[in-house]
Amino acid sequence: MSEGDEDETVMAACTACESVFAAKETANGTILPIGRPQGCQCGSTDFEPVTTPDDRLSKRASD
Ligand SMILES: [Zn+2]
Repeated sequence: MSEGDEDETVMAACTACESVFAAKETANGTILPIGRPQGCQCGSTDFEPVTTPDDRLSKRASD
């Protein structure tokens, strides 16, 4: 696989209202919510990546 201009799909949270969207992180670090060219429903266009560790879910599932 080649890295570089490949976009990465991430979860991103609006920095204003904390709504979470599926988004693409471009090679230069810009986060673009998928299907929301105008940004968040609250009007903000600032997003930050959200990390959701999968092991938290698996631990709860086995409890
Ligand atoms: Zn928002």
